[in-house]
Amino acid sequence: MAAVEAHGVRQVYGRGLKDRVVALDGVDLTVQKGESLGIVGESGSGKSTLARILTGIEQPHEGTVLVNGRPLPTAGRAWRERRRQLQLIPQHAGGALDARVTMEQHLAEVVDAHHLAPDRAARRRLIADSLERVGLAAEHGRKRPRQLSGGQQQRVIIARSLLLSPEILFADEPTSALDLLVRRQIVDLLNVTCRGPHRVFAIVTHDLQIVDGLCDRLIVMKNGKIVESGPTETLLSNPQHAYTRQLVTAAFQTTPSALAAVREAG
Ligand code: ADP
Ligand code: MG
Repeated sequence: MAAVEAHGVRQVYGRGLKDRVVALDGVDLTVQKGESLGIVGESGSGKSTLARILTGIEQPHEGTVLVNGRPLPTAGRAWRERRRQLQLIPQHAGGALDARVTMEQHLAEVVDAHHLAPDRAARRRLIADSLERVGLAAEHGRKRPRQLSGGQQQRVIIARSLLLSPEILFADEPTSALDLLVRRQIVDLLNVTCRGPHRVFAIVTHDLQIVDGLCDRLIVMKNGKIVESGPTETLLSNPQHAYTRQLVTAAFQTTPSALAAVREAG
């Protein structure tokens, strides 16, 4: 059984003729357990909308989404249970942090809500470990959002999602606020923690360099549609769609065939 399936998903925003936007225009997609998926495409192509719909944050106008063969619950206890298995790290997540609350408290809320620690000492250790995994020190935990950089806030958000060891994790541009060194560290962390035979890891990004070596398969989006999909290696070295060729050329500063030649030689 597939981990995540989308059939004929269509999403339209805005009411009037003038501000009507078709964000997703008939998307079909199947993600298998154990797979790591990259969702790429230019800004406005519908990537974030797709990630929200596949994780049940938003309901589509038309079409269906199944997770482990079943529709997602939308409320109640069943929904809360599901939140543990299925996580979205939203784009620009830092803005969603509560300005009055320290980073430790943000993490503690998740620990308490899901009964992840039996006592206070265990809770403290869990929080310290999860900050350390994303490269933050205990002192960062005692700070409030505005005392940290955008990249540090983003790392707390990632730590919070990883606390639940979700079976299915969608990360929407998780590294866009991070500088290059930290970016590599976070990508490696996601790679280690989110991959496994029963897990699904999907990353939304416009950075093809990140998905190279991280994702098994890519889907390329344009104007709310999937224009191309395939194994990462094949897609990068032999893209079929003109738009994918443009993306590869822009990201690697070389043509797909030259990229493939360099790889074969290396
Ligand atoms: P991407 O993540 O690829 O940049 P999005 O999924 O954010 O693309 O957006 C796709 C299209 O839908 C864009 O034209 C965007 O402006 C529009 N859109 C996204 N979310 C909303 C919303 N909540 N209300 C109105 N328009 C939206
Ligand atoms: Mg987006």
